[in-house]
Amino acid sequence: MHRQGESASITGVKVSAYCIPTDQPEADGTLEWDHTILVLAEVAAGGKTGIGFTYADKATAVFIEQLLAKKIANHDAFDIRGCWLAMVRAIRNLGRPGVSSMAISAVDIALWDLKAKLLGLPLVKLIGEVRESAPIYGSGGFTSYSIAKLSEQLGGWVAEGIPRVKMKIGSHPTQDPERVKAARGAIGAAELFVDANGAYDRKHALILSEIYAAQGVRWFEEPVSSDDLEGLRVMRDRAPAAIEIAAGEYGYDLWYFRRMLDAGAVDVLQADATRCGGISGFLGVGELCAARSMPLSGHCAPSVHAHPCCALAPLRHLEYFHDHARIEHMLFDGALNPSGGALTPDRSRPGLGLEFKRQDAARYAI
Ligand SMILES: [Mg+2]
Repeated sequence: MHRQGESASITGVKVSAYCIPTDQPEADGTLEWDHTILVLAEVAAGGKTGIGFTYADKATAVFIEQLLAKKIANHDAFDIRGCWLAMVRAIRNLGRPGVSSMAISAVDIALWDLKAKLLGLPLVKLIGEVRESAPIYGSGGFTSYSIAKLSEQLGGWVAEGIPRVKMKIGSHPTQDPERVKAARGAIGAAELFVDANGAYDRKHALILSEIYAAQGVRWFEEPVSSDDLEGLRVMRDRAPAAIEIAAGEYGYDLWYFRRMLDAGAVDVLQADATRCGGISGFLGVGELCAARSMPLSGHCAPSVHAHPCCALAPLRHLEYFHDHARIEHMLFDGALNPSGGALTPDRSRPGLGLEFKRQDAARYAI
């Protein structure tokens, strides 16, 4: 463990990327994919190594290697905020949203993991916990799935004790109500969420919100593009009161989230620490939510979010996304298993509690 009064200069930043095929073709309302790329950042100081990752593109790895690594070299690993600002300054001319912020996020997460390891603390204790566990919802239900597969996956999560599930809609709008009906049949009284990934226009989304509300849907995510803040506000004002409007997964900086909140665009704000500037950025979003009495929902990458989600008062729940849960169990020892509809950080392990399974991952390296 680190001794009081010592600094710990960052001695190395390593990056690697892995391409993992999906277990079957996947699609949502506006995208299809057959693989997911995980970009891993490893930051060393004081004899410890912190790990962080993002789901992105290989370009994100190049970005970390060629630009960010030298910006934090020799910084004191305890000064995460200083490292974070050095990285943000370095990308000024390249643009903040997108690859830049995903790269910063992976490194920031590694810095938090590293600091917690240097102090011999689980990350949730370093940040300061407010709850034992983070409630989750099972998320998948891809539009590429047959109705049988959709029902099996959603029903499976409910059978495991997860009382909330989310399915994708929007690829085949005329079939959606039938698919939602099948999902409802498979999950009984559990909460049902739908995510259109911005596939609809305002009027179409409004009409569908009436149909889904009648099917007991509680959450309509990105019914219209999340860039259409006015459209989200129209949905929030005019959709049935029982349905909450959610968005925010493409937020890369605090100004984005503030604009979304200023527009009154959502009932629940979503944020993704692997995009919005890491644990540091995610904690900032939590404070914005606190100032608005706005619930926050963590987006994907459950192994990254479990700890900060237990440290933020406005948390509603965390997305237990099929792809990421699968990949994190494949590539990390210590990936958490749901219990009682929640993820509980393992407080016996330092940092995020994850060990990268380098040998298992090697065959996916790109
Ligand atoms: Mg979504």
